[in-house]
Amino acid sequence: MVKLEEQKHKTQDKFIEKLPPSSKVYIPLSQHLGEACASLVSPNDAVLLGEKIASIQVHVSAPIHSSVSGKVLAIQEAPHPVLGRAKAIVIENNGQDKSPSHQVTKSPEDAEKITPEQIRNIVFEAGIVGMGGASFPTHIKLNPPKPVDTLIINGAECEPYLTGDYRLMVEKTKEIILGAELVARCLGVKNIYLAIEDNKPEAIKNFNYELRFTSYELRILKSQYPQGGEKQLIKNIVNKEVPSGKLPFELGVVVHNVATVYAIYEAVYLAKPLYERVVTVTGSCLSQPKNLLVRIGSPIKELIAYCGPLKEEPAKIIVGGPMMGIAQYTDEVPVIKSTTGIILMNEREARIQEEEFCIRCGACVRECPAGLMPCLINLAAEKEIWAQAKTYGVMDCIECGLCSYVCPANRNLVQSIKRAKLECAE
Ligand code: SF4
Ligand code: SF4
Repeated sequence: MVKLEEQKHKTQDKFIEKLPPSSKVYIPLSQHLGEACASLVSPNDAVLLGEKIASIQVHVSAPIHSSVSGKVLAIQEAPHPVLGRAKAIVIENNGQDKSPSHQVTKSPEDAEKITPEQIRNIVFEAGIVGMGGASFPTHIKLNPPKPVDTLIINGAECEPYLTGDYRLMVEKTKEIILGAELVARCLGVKNIYLAIEDNKPEAIKNFNYELRFTSYELRILKSQYPQGGEKQLIKNIVNKEVPSGKLPFELGVVVHNVATVYAIYEAVYLAKPLYERVVTVTGSCLSQPKNLLVRIGSPIKELIAYCGPLKEEPAKIIVGGPMMGIAQYTDEVPVIKSTTGIILMNEREARIQEEEFCIRCGACVRECPAGLMPCLINLAAEKEIWAQAKTYGVMDCIECGLCSYVCPANRNLVQSIKRAKLECAE
């Protein structure tokens, strides 16, 4: 793990602000790991805020809800921050934010009575997926095939520009604990850890206070990258190594991100489906970087305009963190459930440099947290020898981006490794 130059100071002390809802939202049918959803609406249909507009077709999936009330304009191909282009439901916002009338909030006493099965069902119906970027459907993680005894709530947020999870932990401490209790009830676990990096003092202070009468253990971790990776957290907190090809539940551990846990709280207590999320909008090109609460489907150009004006033209726009995020070809892409950040980088930050030949320095091998040899996988990928890439363990890559970051020859290692993973998965 390495200590990266951080840019969290730009937004870490900014309260979460609500972005005014867009006049038109583009809600992709694919926002999670697994197959795309099927639309339940057609052009000209009226929809309400929080209404289910797309349902699952296979088990590994999560339904999708409207983030505004208004009228469906079209179901069409549109820019997508992860897939390039994908089908989206386009909705014109009527500005009324009208919700279905059956949505009722729960008191803590009511919430205490609901069963694990009911919680899983609410989480499924609310369309919740892993919000730290992985976007795996949460209801599946709440029902592991084997009993588990340990829950880790991941508040590490190790990406060097992002502060959305930090602000949630500062501003919604009690709600995150209520959400964690629901998760713990579903899993039937005894050991509950909350993992936070030591660069988040206010969140640590709040949780220290709120957890004083509970059995939760607050674990303060060194701020280094990729501390928040699932496998790294499990190793650092319970000293267990997840073997190649295995999942954490097989070792009795489940990890959930703090934003996901907060969404679970909202679904159960407030009867609110996942139709908005906190996004860090930052980078040196912006005059007013912020943390925004944003409706799903809002084009990122609106977030950028809200945090502007631009101080300089961006050399690169990234959706996600600078290490694991994806560079975009257009600012028309919408915010989706897994969008943690939008970063507008200038030339210096973007480090756009010519790729050179590998000098066999070994830096990528030394830094890879998955114990891989990225230089060799890169060679195999360039020659399209996918079987060899698989032998080198490409499927264990966590796509942390460290190999590219440390490479003195500016090799595009992660891109080629991501491609090799896709090829090998097929
Ligand atoms: S090979 Fe994968 S896990 Fe290893 S450093 Fe590169 S991106 Fe990270
Ligand atoms: S860090 Fe770059 S130059 Fe060094 S071995 Fe890896 S790929 Fe080659």
